[in-house]
Amino acid sequence: FSSEELTRTLLERIKTLDPELNSFITVTEERALEQARAADTRRANGETGALLGAPIAHKDLFCTQGVLTTCASRILHNFVSPYDASVVERLASAGAVSLGKLNMDEFAMGSANESSHYGPVKNPWDLTRVPGGSSGGSAAAIAARLIPAATGTDTGGSIRQPAALTGLTGLKPTYGRVSRWGMIAYASSLDQGGPMARSAEDCALLLGAMAGFDPRDSTSVDQPLDDYLAGLNQPLNGLRIGLPKEYFTAGLDAKIADKVMEVVEQLKGLGATVMEISLPNMQHAIPAYYVIAPAEASSNLSRFDGVRYGYRCEAPKDLQDLYKRSRAEGFGAEVKRRIMVGTYALSAGYYDAYYLKAQKIRRLIRNDFLEAFKDVDLILGPTTPNLAWKLGEKNADPVSAYLEDIYTITANLAGIPGLSMPAGFVDGLPVGVQLLAPDFQEARLLNVAHGYQ
Ligand code: GLN
Repeated sequence: FSSEELTRTLLERIKTLDPELNSFITVTEERALEQARAADTRRANGETGALLGAPIAHKDLFCTQGVLTTCASRILHNFVSPYDASVVERLASAGAVSLGKLNMDEFAMGSANESSHYGPVKNPWDLTRVPGGSSGGSAAAIAARLIPAATGTDTGGSIRQPAALTGLTGLKPTYGRVSRWGMIAYASSLDQGGPMARSAEDCALLLGAMAGFDPRDSTSVDQPLDDYLAGLNQPLNGLRIGLPKEYFTAGLDAKIADKVMEVVEQLKGLGATVMEISLPNMQHAIPAYYVIAPAEASSNLSRFDGVRYGYRCEAPKDLQDLYKRSRAEGFGAEVKRRIMVGTYALSAGYYDAYYLKAQKIRRLIRNDFLEAFKDVDLILGPTTPNLAWKLGEKNADPVSAYLEDIYTITANLAGIPGLSMPAGFVDGLPVGVQLLAPDFQEARLLNVAHGYQ
């Protein structure tokens, strides 16, 4: 069948199912059909490629020329980007067809997709539960088979955690592997775009198109790309896997721990060896992250002032009033909380006590990984300490949601790549297993996930 037929079928499916799920903010029907027809023509002219004509969608913080890019915030509710993000451009030139823009936590701040200006997203496996966040729209749309794959971003787990809670594969590449150009910034030293899909193979396909050096992003790394597809079928014989003892403690749901150990047994059956390792500074990761991420966010979000982009308050009295009311009315509660925490942490007199100290902890966390990777090729553990929780359950206590990031944020602080893969179900809900590898070893993560799947 043609890409146009496939696109039409999925657009119908979105119309039927998405009013309940709320995974899309914008559906670009006409544009999608145009892209699909163009892909069909390219294929008819002899062009090949697995992404040519493949339907996808983008998290709504990737700028898309001529299409709304809201970051799920009121402050950008009317923002139409004049250009495409690098990731959007690269996937489009590979022939992928974008069906629209996906819901997310406002400015990617959250773990449940409940802070969106466009309302919460539901988990397709249980509509009373969250899909995880902040790439919750991407996760729900793929899990409900509205699209086969999507882009997401991961600052502290936002690709891996929703992938885990919805039974998908999601990959956070090494910092610098995927261009951040045109990706609206949350915490610039941690943000990284990546693929989400049902299988490691689909993630490999997407990553191959998304990744690579981009001179427009000063932190983009100029290093050759691996052939992610070719690497999928490497034998796992002799692979050395480390299980961090700090991961398997009282905070982890015992049934999730059992699932993780089942995966370990299977990988042993494929020839892997397993040893216990230690990441001694892990306990400091959440406090350090929740200083660094808000600090960078407070700086990044200062550009939303009611003057240059998006929402502007009615009838401002003067410039101060314009700034104040546009921001007060434009940002949601979680975003304001982060801006205040970050501004405090960066202010004179507190900088050394908070930001500088958090940066030192960050270095210790990276050193823990470098030390561990002297003995093992890969680190394995749970992606999340708990299963998908009920919508609204953690709203009153933001810190309880922050604690859900315990296993994912260390990879962002260290800059290393991480992948979450589906490991079955507990009580009818999906469980994810996380794999972590040294810098630029995305191919190994995909290889192991593919071997297991
Ligand atoms: N839950 C984390 C936060 O709220 C991570 C979000 C993300 O990775 N974008 O900051």
